[in-house]
Amino acid sequence: MKITFLGGADGVTGSRHLVDTGSERILLDCGLFQGWKLHRERNWTFPDALADLDAVVLSHAHLDHSGWLPVLVRHGWRGRVYAHPATIDLAGVLLLDSAHLQEEDARRANRYGYARHAKALPLYTQAEARRAMALATPLPPGRELRIGASRITLAPAGHLLGACSVHLRHGTADGETLLYSGDLGRADDLLMPPPEPPRAARTLLVESTYGNRTHPTEDPAPRLAAIVEQTVSRGGSVLLPAFAVGRAQALLLVLQRLKRAGALPHGLPIFLDSPMATQATALYTQHRRLLRVPARETAALLDGVRVVADATASMRLSNARYPRIVISASGMAAGGRVLHHLKVMAPEPQHAVVFAGYQVGGSRGARLVAGEREVKIHGQMVPVRAAVHSLEGFSGHADRDGIVGWLRALREPPERTFVVHGEPDASDALRCALQDRLGWNGVRVPGHGETVDLARS
Ligand code: ZN
Repeated sequence: MKITFLGGADGVTGSRHLVDTGSERILLDCGLFQGWKLHRERNWTFPDALADLDAVVLSHAHLDHSGWLPVLVRHGWRGRVYAHPATIDLAGVLLLDSAHLQEEDARRANRYGYARHAKALPLYTQAEARRAMALATPLPPGRELRIGASRITLAPAGHLLGACSVHLRHGTADGETLLYSGDLGRADDLLMPPPEPPRAARTLLVESTYGNRTHPTEDPAPRLAAIVEQTVSRGGSVLLPAFAVGRAQALLLVLQRLKRAGALPHGLPIFLDSPMATQATALYTQHRRLLRVPARETAALLDGVRVVADATASMRLSNARYPRIVISASGMAAGGRVLHHLKVMAPEPQHAVVFAGYQVGGSRGARLVAGEREVKIHGQMVPVRAAVHSLEGFSGHADRDGIVGWLRALREPPERTFVVHGEPDASDALRCALQDRLGWNGVRVPGHGETVDLARS
């Protein structure tokens, strides 16, 4: 068996792990590169290794795991994409939005002439995203899927609605086995139950987004309430850039709880300004039995929340003068309606911008959290005088202790472990933790594009 790391090996985005069993070629995740320009440019090259794929298996719907599927389709691939039913529902929403943003970016770049090339083209179109989703085949967790001589099983991994780790067995009972963690959730996530214990495997691929961090143990809700209180008392508004799928629902849940507890300024309006987050919230309600939250709370996520329907209403909202909370996407302020709000709010010191999720290096969100005093939006420099906060307590990822704790449940250490999906220092810190705390051997951080032959490693 060979594994080629085609993404998510020297950063957190673009997860694409090609498993070649000798008889089947299966791609674990098909993610989009985001963040650093150096990484984003990889979206435009088609690795030769991806010719003749038999199947794609998605761990979850986030774009850094699913967002490159339409490019496969653009290159003529027509195989099957297996995923948890909820992942298929969410990916349908995310991929269409991703295609829409790319079409819009290309249009805007052509119109205002800041394209790097003679004519800017979208990476893929909405039609290609639809064609990609037509290949999706539901695979409920716990059910074994056979692809040739390989058997694949998904197991819930917390993190996000539908998120799973992937277990692969090739050939007979003593054949190669591989476990891919996908993105691993926390034991104390707001919405998702804890990840299921890992299944034994000879080879492990484990994520390391927070491999060098320990999440604060404090509840993020009181801190959010305090930020809202301070901001509103100085006449400002709070902007919450949120990943439309997962984080927006967690924020809604916390805001509803704060409101019920009387911890938010009375009558302060809350706006949800993201059509994708609105759709995703409906999917969370539909799949509510997968959540740890009581069904009545899931059903009440949008109670009293003003849902902003069209782009004109969104523009009007960004120019309004009254205090308010606005949840808008995208979560790293890479695109979407949040940019109009940011353009108006960032230059004014009374407002607050609160990030509640991981900000990938090179993203606008990461620059703001790092304290940069101006950011480029739609080709124009915008000064930043608003307060910028980052609430780590909303993270959907297990921290170092969480990942090590999850893996401690394995009775036999894997023969080899590849630490993926992390910035280099985070991956290396997790590698050290697995060696030092669990006494594991054969733990490495693979390089981008590297192929490992398991028979020789
Ligand atoms: Zn994820």
